[in-house]
This record gives sequence, structure tokens and C-alpha cells, in this order.
Amino acid sequence: MSTIGFIGLGIMGGPMAANLVAAGHTVLGYDTRQEAAERLVSAGGAYAGSVAAAAAADVVITMLPDSPQVEQVVLGPDGVLEHAKPGLLLVDMSTIRPDTSVAIAAAARERGVRALDAPVSGGERGAIDGVLSIMVGGDPEAFEAARPVFEVLGATIVHVGPSGAGQTVKAANQLVVGGTYALVAEAIVLLEASGVDPGPALDVLAGGLAGSRILELKRKSMVARDFTPGFRIDLHHKDMGIALAAAREAGVALPMTGLTAQLIAAARANGYGPLDHSVLLQVLENLSGKAAS
Ligand code: NAD
Repeated sequence: MSTIGFIGLGIMGGPMAANLVAAGHTVLGYDTRQEAAERLVSAGGAYAGSVAAAAAADVVITMLPDSPQVEQVVLGPDGVLEHAKPGLLLVDMSTIRPDTSVAIAAAARERGVRALDAPVSGGERGAIDGVLSIMVGGDPEAFEAARPVFEVLGATIVHVGPSGAGQTVKAANQLVVGGTYALVAEAIVLLEASGVDPGPALDVLAGGLAGSRILELKRKSMVARDFTPGFRIDLHHKDMGIALAAAREAGVALPMTGLTAQLIAAARANGYGPLDHSVLLQVLENLSGKAAS
């Protein structure tokens, strides 16, 4: 069992850290929000009090919102690299830009720290149940060293290539998820406008070729207009920016991704940023003048 520093104890990081505690690891957690720290302590973890204290571990996991936070926590003054023990395994599980992951891995290497980018898919439910999909970029030996930790957190754990590759796979994941939500939302708009009850209609879609994890997990809450996050529009907006920047970098055109990104931008512009990304339904309803009052 290892000592694991866990930085970023939000919707995803909170239950992930709790699962590591339950598996017998010593978890030193850190978050800027007091209530997140208290939740870890009540799950049996220890509050580190600072990034520096959390960095004094065998493994450090970061689960932060975006590239600037990861850069600050890892590379910044009093950051993880400044306080890392030689041989530290640094695993960033946030969704950030692939080029940031590459830069962090290079800076880590100079300090004798092994860094992996290991973003996840599966949402809050997957984090709680310890069944996330984990897509890992970086050195294969570091991946093998981190595998016991990944096995606590996830059910599908795949090494996908060198540093940054995990984030590129996550960008691909997010464009599929966003596009699927947009189409499920359009299906609901069509069904309701045509006088067809979307409940049984989506039940049958979920069992056929149109079936997806999104239909399986979210069709009932979407029809009920329950947009409690889950995964916030603000974060998906960030991820669509990452996907479009990666497409530009790779010299390819992704028109469906562009359209989905604009719908997510519209959700944000309408003030839905803190809501679950399934709130795309409301954006599509607004377009047809069908918004619920
Ligand atoms: P969140 O906002 O709930 O959690 C982020 C946590 O980081 C917060 O508790 C915040 O207080 C903390 N934080 C921010 N800056 C910090 C700093 N400088 N030092 C310490 N703590 C800091 O977000 P989340 O939903 O848990 O997502 C985290 C990451 O995982 C994001 O990159 C997101 O895109 C990705 N992700 C989220 C989901 C999901 O369904 N929520 C799914 C897959 C991936």
C-alpha cells in the first residue's frame, strides 16, 4: 500500500480519493475548498493542508479543473515538483490540453519524477463505483507502476501512447459524448413536439442500435429536466476547446465537433454553465421555441 497525495477533491476527486482510502492506501488530500477536505477526512483520509504536504508521498494524483490549475499546482512555486521525492509517480487525471501534459512530463523528468497523463471517463457515478475508463499517456514502465492505483479507480485501464496521448484520447471521448447528448436532446425535442411520450420511446432506442451509455444512464433525468451536475457545461466547454485546438494542431477538420462546441457555448451563454451537460436539451428546445417555463 502506498501513500498517495490527492490534490483536487471535487465531484470526481472526492469519491476517487475515498475509494483509495477504502482500498487501504494512506491518502493525504488537498483542496482549496474546506468542505471537500472535510469530506475526505470523514471517509478516513488525512487533510494535507498544502500542496507541499500532499507532494510528500509515493504517488501524487491531481484531479483539477483545467490546465492553468494543474500548471500552478505542479509547476508553480511551492508546487508538487518543488517538493517531490525522487522517483515520485505523478499522475494527472484531470482533463487538460495534451501539450500541457507533454510540458509537465518534461519538467517532471528533469526533477527525477515520472509523470503520466491519465484522464478518465465514466462521470461521477463511475468515480463512486470505481469503474472509470482510464486512458493513460506516458512511459510504459511508469504506467505499470501506477496500475495498482488505477485498478482501484477504474475498470477499463488502457495505455494509449506517450505523454499527451491520454489527453488526445480524452478529447476524442468528449466530442463523442457532447455530440451524443446533442442528438439525444434533438430526439426528445422531436418526440415531444410530435406528441409522442419520450419515456417509452427512449426505452426502445436504448435497446437498439441507437443505444449508448448516455441513453442508458441519462434518459430519465433528461426527460424529467433534472440537470443536477454530474459534469458541468463549464467543463465540457473547456473540453470542446481542447478538442478543437487538438484538431487544428493535427490539421484536420471536425465539423460535427465544431457544431457541438457551439451548442455547448450557447448553453454557457444562456447561464447554464454550472448545470449538467445534459442541459443541452434546453438549448435545443430554445432553438425551436419550445423551452419549458
Ligand atoms: P470539480 O470542479 O468538482 O473539482 C475540482 C476540484 O479542484 C474542486 O474541489 C476545486 O476546489 C479544486 N481546486 C481547484 N483549484 C485548486 C487548486 N489550485 N488547488 C487545490 N484544489 C483546487 O471538477 P470535477 O467534475 O471533479 O472535474 C475534475 C476534472 O475531471 C476536470 O478536468 C474534468 O474535466 C474532469 N472530468 C470530470 C468528469 C465529471 O463527470 N465531473 C468526468 C470525467 C473527467
